[in-house]
Amino acid sequence: MSAHRVEADLCVVGLGPTGWALTHRAVRAGMRVVAVDPRPERPWGPTFSCWVDELPGWLPRSAIAQRIEAPTVWAKSEHRIERPYCVLSKHGLREALPLEDATVIAGRATAVDAHAVELNDGTSLTAAAVFDTRGLPAPGARRTASAHGIFVDAEIAAPMVADGEGLLLDWRDENGAGPDEPPSFLYSVPLGDGTVIFEETSLGLRGGMPQRELRRRTLNRLAAHGIRLRGDEHTEAAHYPLDQPPPHLRGHGDAPTPFGSRGGMMHPCTGYSVADSIALVDTAIDALRTGGDPVPALWPWQARLVYWMRMRGVYGMGRLTTEQSISMFDAFFTASPRQQRALLSAHDDFAALASVLFMTVARTWPFHWRFDLVGFTNRNRWVGYEYRPATEPDHLSR
Ligand SMILES: Cc1cc2nc3c(=O)[nH]c(=O)nc-3n(C[C@H](O)[C@H](O)[C@H](O)COP(=O)(O)OP(=O)(O)OC[C@H]3O[C@@H](n4cnc5c(N)ncnc54)[C@H](O)[C@@H]3O)c2cc1C
Repeated sequence: MSAHRVEADLCVVGLGPTGWALTHRAVRAGMRVVAVDPRPERPWGPTFSCWVDELPGWLPRSAIAQRIEAPTVWAKSEHRIERPYCVLSKHGLREALPLEDATVIAGRATAVDAHAVELNDGTSLTAAAVFDTRGLPAPGARRTASAHGIFVDAEIAAPMVADGEGLLLDWRDENGAGPDEPPSFLYSVPLGDGTVIFEETSLGLRGGMPQRELRRRTLNRLAAHGIRLRGDEHTEAAHYPLDQPPPHLRGHGDAPTPFGSRGGMMHPCTGYSVADSIALVDTAIDALRTGGDPVPALWPWQARLVYWMRMRGVYGMGRLTTEQSISMFDAFFTASPRQQRALLSAHDDFAALASVLFMTVARTWPFHWRFDLVGFTNRNRWVGYEYRPATEPDHLSR
């Protein structure tokens, strides 16, 4: 028995950044929107970052907490990427996307289909369209993004990352991992709130890398730069799948439209989805308003081809050694800005993406490493790898 029934043009299930932006823009477009999340008021957990040019023009710049004009990549040598990058303000993003004209319901969806949603309290929602923005499941043995981030006071972090600077990928040999251990890199940016995050990150391993291992590596890197922690710093953890595919073209009958990270917008090689999802919100809404199907509008063949090629990229990344990863990233970050963008950001620039993938493989040396990259050899190199037990080195603890 339904407790009550709510009707709308659009029902959005899940108020992460994707569902939030979709709800806001759909209301702005004149739609009656009902959005549901178990805890709509709960602040988002992770730190969200992106390239500034990925954000749509309609999003106020107050959504940005920290801008980094030219972040750094350390591979074999230092690369300065002349492309502004930013950390989003979670509070600023919500302020920029008010939901007051939507019907927001605190509840958990227990059944979701193309036109109806049932909540755990018996409420029944019906809508002309239902978007499933419930995010991703736990990764299990899938290709995974794993990270352990430590928030360090900016003045303590300054010897390594000064204000306005950022280390996008730091592959320097400072994390204490040996050549026969799965690779990881450091990501470190100021957050605009007086702290800097130091986040050891692994991308593409099946099942990911344990938090204890990532923490050990982060602490080793900090120690290499003479940075001592107080011991009470806040941390964040990431562990989510990178290989969530785009939805099939219609024919999926009663299924809702999956959107955001749940709908294929998680970038398989970077682990980012937020900017792309926000940027595509209007494409979805335009399709709905003109009576079309959002799935082909969001996923033309060019975008599907891009997704397919990126998946080859994450397969490759997940089987490389540290030395091979460094060589591969060194080749990639000498590519043209358009080629770099085709891999890192653009939703459908398949020609530039194909050329940069080809170029990256072609520049990989020694020659036989290319076989690992494309999967002829060492296809399952790190599958079943046993990590060391948790011990925090004495010199790093308080
Ligand atoms: C530590 C960390 C760092 C990250 N850094 C970045 C980054 O720099 N840039 C980037 O782009 N991405 C980053 N990510 C990934 C990012 O968090 C995801 O890409 C993003 O949150 C996906 O947004 P989403 O709205 O699609 O899904 P989610 O953020 O997962 O939101 C899903 C929502 O659905 C709700 N929900 C779940 N089940 C139900 C249900 N049954 N009924 C109703 N609601 C439900 C949840 O409560 C949640 O609010 C990071 C992730 C982590 C963990």
